[in-house]
Amino acid sequence: MGFSKLGLSPNLLKALEDVGYKTPTAIQNKAIPAILSGRDIIAAAQTGTGKTASFALPILNQFSTGKNKDRTLRGKRIRALILTPTRELAVQVEASISQYSKHLELSSMAMYGGTEIEPQKQRLIWGVDIVVATPGRLLDMAHQRALHFDELEVLVLDEADRMLDMGFIDDINKIIERLPLQRQNLLFSATISNEVRSLAKRSINDDAIEISIKADKSSKPKIDQWLVTVDKSNKSALLSYLIKDQNWQQALIFIETKHGAAKLVSQLEKRGIQAECIHSGRTQAIREQILNDFKSGKIHFLVSTGIAARGIDIGELTRVVNYDLPGQADEYIHRIGRTGRAGASGEAVSFVSKDNFRELCAIESRLNHLLERKEFEEFPVKKAVPVSVLNFVPKHKR
Ligand code: AMP
Repeated sequence: MGFSKLGLSPNLLKALEDVGYKTPTAIQNKAIPAILSGRDIIAAAQTGTGKTASFALPILNQFSTGKNKDRTLRGKRIRALILTPTRELAVQVEASISQYSKHLELSSMAMYGGTEIEPQKQRLIWGVDIVVATPGRLLDMAHQRALHFDELEVLVLDEADRMLDMGFIDDINKIIERLPLQRQNLLFSATISNEVRSLAKRSINDDAIEISIKADKSSKPKIDQWLVTVDKSNKSALLSYLIKDQNWQQALIFIETKHGAAKLVSQLEKRGIQAECIHSGRTQAIREQILNDFKSGKIHFLVSTGIAARGIDIGELTRVVNYDLPGQADEYIHRIGRTGRAGASGEAVSFVSKDNFRELCAIESRLNHLLERKEFEEFPVKKAVPVSVLNFVPKHKR
């Protein structure tokens, strides 16, 4: 069944076509009609199931076609608040919303700490329809009277279990106290623990619809994740080897710097492998052209910095390579989430050198399992990567 049967407006369907989604995932099939009917929901769904679209699409649909569609927002007001545990997730969710609302006249922004508050305040001056925020910064904004909730229509608690794990419960309670009583509430959580249930009791209506997505074929991404230990100096040779000898047909390759991206492309080309790169030093028009060529299969290997790849969506991507391991575990999850979508299988390969050990432990702790390690005899490792520690806690959790 396609998206058109779910009751979404033509402008949203057009945006979905642009991003290449063809069929709704299991959570989308269940949540979209429920949210459109105006009910509260509590949904057990993990990252990778398509949960973001499952709440973003009906919210956008209601805001652009529902009874308040012609509403003019007053200054410092918002219509939907989406709370997320981390800044990375806030950015990612907002990027998805921007894509889906491409053909609508709705505004959205991400709001998170660790960065200047003033520009975020400025953005709010005329009101913003949808705000995706981390709890701490949102409260700061409210305390400074830069943001008022009296026009709020929808509250989304995204990854509720992680927000609780990260100690945001007090902030969340304080935020909920400020919201109008009449509102729609949507709670998403990977697991529905007792703590999540008690948060739900306080924040959402008793007659909320419960949705649980079994980890079946259609919802759970099948991403084969493994890492290869390699000395830094051997990384580009190893990548060429994998592409040629393992007969790789396609890969999106993440790298740290734009200089590194250009250098890697030339190293690959010297070994007879055609590749392209995108990074902040290239114009938007060129980036779009390259992306289109990658999507259509004209380019098989695309090297990208993490920033340049943010928000890009490639329908069927078979493989993601972390040529440089990301500094944040969440970034790793987002990167690998670009493959193995909506039931298709994918592969995520990470190049790990000795000095990536801390990042590796943080990623494996976040995944709650160790990644399968491989080493290729053609590339013996001189600086061994130590055995991982699973309960590793990164210094800055917020
Ligand atoms: P999420 O669970 O929201 O983190 O989504 C996981 C990934 O699946 C995101 O990168 C989405 O762009 C992608 N996605 C969501 N819905 C669909 C769909 N119906 N078809 C294909 N990809 C999808």
